[in-house]
Amino acid sequence: MSVQTLDDLLGASGGVRGRRVFVRADLNVPLKAGVVGDDTRIRASLGTLRRLLAGGARVVLASHLGRPKGPSAELSLAPVAARVSELLGRRVAFCPQTIGAEAEAAAAKLGDGEVLLLENLRFDPREEKNDVSFARALAALADDYVNDAFGTAHRAHASTAGIVPFVKRAAAGDLLREELRHLQVVREPARPLLCLLGGAKVSDKLAVLEALAPHADVLAIGGAMAYTFLRALGQPTGASLVEADRVGDAKRVIAAAEKAGRRLLLPTDHVIAQKLEAAAPSRIVPTIPDGWMGLDIGPVTAKRYAEEAARARTIFWNGPMGVFELDAFCKGTEAVARAVAAASAHSVVGGGDSLAAINKLGLGERIGHLSTGGGASLEFVQGLALPGVTALEGLTP
Ligand code: ADP
Ligand code: MG
Repeated sequence: MSVQTLDDLLGASGGVRGRRVFVRADLNVPLKAGVVGDDTRIRASLGTLRRLLAGGARVVLASHLGRPKGPSAELSLAPVAARVSELLGRRVAFCPQTIGAEAEAAAAKLGDGEVLLLENLRFDPREEKNDVSFARALAALADDYVNDAFGTAHRAHASTAGIVPFVKRAAAGDLLREELRHLQVVREPARPLLCLLGGAKVSDKLAVLEALAPHADVLAIGGAMAYTFLRALGQPTGASLVEADRVGDAKRVIAAAEKAGRRLLLPTDHVIAQKLEAAAPSRIVPTIPDGWMGLDIGPVTAKRYAEEAARARTIFWNGPMGVFELDAFCKGTEAVARAVAAASAHSVVGGGDSLAAINKLGLGERIGHLSTGGGASLEFVQGLALPGVTALEGLTP
C-alpha cells in the first residue's frame, strides 16, 4: 500500500501539534429516539483519534449518518458527539453546520488536543456528488486530512476523495490501514483459501461471487442465495427464496469455478419450514419438498463447511448461512461461526448481519479480523480499487 499512514503524519517534522486535522470517520451508528445503539463503529474510530490527540492535533471530526435527503433532526450527529466524548473521556464540541462560517469559527477556536464534530456530511447533497466546492469547503476547516472511514472507502465522495487535493498532508488512519492489511491477505492468500458466502441475495453479491469463484480454493455457499444456485443445478427448491432472474448468473459462477479447477460447495441438507416464523414447525431434509422453504443449512452441510474451515489457511466470510435472527434457523450460522473462530487460518468476516451473528455468539475476540465495512470489504476482495484509498495513493507529506 503506497499511502501515507498515521505513523508518517505523526513522525513528520513537527508532527501534528497545533495542526488542524480533518478526520473522516465512519460514525454511522444506529440511533433510536436520539440515543446511540450499537456503538461498535465509534469504538473502532477511537484509536486514530487518541493518537492524533495525544500528538497535540486539533481534530475536526466528520462522518455521515444514514441516508438523509437534506437536513433532518433525526439524523443529526449531535447524540454521536456525546457518545464520542464519553468514550474518549474528553469534551467534544459539536457544530450544527458541516461547512461555512460557523464551522470555520468553531474549527479556528480549537486548542491542541481538542475535538470538534461537524454535522452530518450527507445533509449536503454535494457530499455524495463529490462536488469540488464542497470538498474545498471541508478542506478549509483543516490543515491535514486523515481518512479512517473504511465503511465508505468504496465511494468517491467529497469527504473521502474530493478533499484530498486541497489539504496539505493526507494519510490513512489506523482503522483504514488495518482493514486493508487484513483484507489484502484475502487477495493474496495463504492457500487453501475458503470463502463462505451467504445472506439474502445473489443479486447483492453477484460481483463478489464472480470474482471469488475462480480465486478461492473452496467457495462454500449458504443462506438464501444457495437456493438460486440449487435451481441453477436443476434441484428442487420448493418455496425457498429463488431469484429466477439470477439463475443464469449462478450458472456462470458455477462454470467459472469449474473452469479454474476450484470447488464450489452448496448445501446438501436444509432446515425447512412452511412459514418464515419463529414457531413454524421445521424439519431437516436433503431435498426440499413443494411448499417448504430452506431457511438454514442442515447439520451435514454445516459439518462439511466446518471441516473446510479447519483445513483452510485463509478464510473470508460474508453473509449468514440462514435466517439466524430466529433460533430455529441459526444453527448453521452458529456452527460455521464456531468453526471459523476455532480455525487456525487467518480469518476475516464482513457484513452487518454476519457480524451481528458473531457478536450474538460472543465469538468476536476469536476472529482474525471483523471488518467494519461490508460493502467496502466485498469490493476490496474482488480486486477493485477503493476511491477513498486511491485518493490517498502517491501523495507525499
Ligand atoms: P450481511 O449483512 O452479513 O452482508 P445479508 O444482508 O446479505 O448479510 O443477508 C442477511 C439476511 O439474509 C438475514 O436477514 C437473513 O435472515 C437472511 N437469510 C439468510 N438465509 C436465508 C434464507 N435461507 N431464507 C431467507 N432469508 C435468509
Ligand atoms: Mg445485511
